[in-house]
This record gives sequence, structure tokens and C-alpha cells, in this order.
Amino acid sequence: MKSHVGMEQKVCPVCGQAFDTGTILLDKRLRNSLERKTVTGWDLCPKHAKLWQKGYIALVACDPEKSTFTGNAIKPGDAYRTGAIAHVRKAVAREIFNVEMTGPVAFVEPAVVDMLEEMQEENSGD
Ligand SMILES: [Zn+2]
Repeated sequence: MKSHVGMEQKVCPVCGQAFDTGTILLDKRLRNSLERKTVTGWDLCPKHAKLWQKGYIALVACDPEKSTFTGNAIKPGDAYRTGAIAHVRKAVAREIFNVEMTGPVAFVEPAVVDMLEEMQEENSGD
């Protein structure tokens, strides 16, 4: 059922989950145009926003055969997530990919996340 007020939700590009932003949406003409929960776009969920603020980039594994590529990149809405996510510091990401990572999230092949998990297990003594 639609109403003239709705709770804004955004979808996290890292985990793909919709979350409440706490913003109330109001149709300015008071038309019943809004779902009770209305997704307005992409944004990091509180958990992943915190990791980004700490300097971590999320590497989200997605199936290259089931994802849609735009050029060499995958847009958040086109990623077929396998569910595996690795968080690495920006400097580490730069070493792996040889480019400066400017965004909080990168879509990678599942093998990249597997490799990072193995590396982190080896270093888990710290
Ligand atoms: Zn998230």
C-alpha cells in the first residue's frame, strides 16, 4: 500500500542489504506515491561506512559470469555477489591492483577474496 510518507532506505553496495537511513520521505504534493519503505539509492550501511572511515576498502566477490560488466567495471546493481567480502587497507589494495582505489568498494573475482583470506589467516597472529 502506498502513502504520502515513507521511510527512506538505501542499499549498501558492499553487502547488498537495504537499511533504514532514518529519513522520513514526504511526497510534497501529498500524493500516495511512496512505499512504506522506499529505496532511494546506494549508500554504505552503518557497519561498512565505519570500515571505510577507518581506511578499509571492501572487496566484494562476484561471479564474473553472472554479473553484468559496464566497460571493465561492474556497477553495484549489476553485481552477482557470491557473499564473500574481504576488507583491506587502502595501501594493500593499491599493491594488489596497482591503482589508487578511490571508492569504498570494488567488485572482484572470488579468487581474489580467497587469496586475501589465506593471507589474513597466515597473519592472524598479530
Ligand atoms: Zn553493508
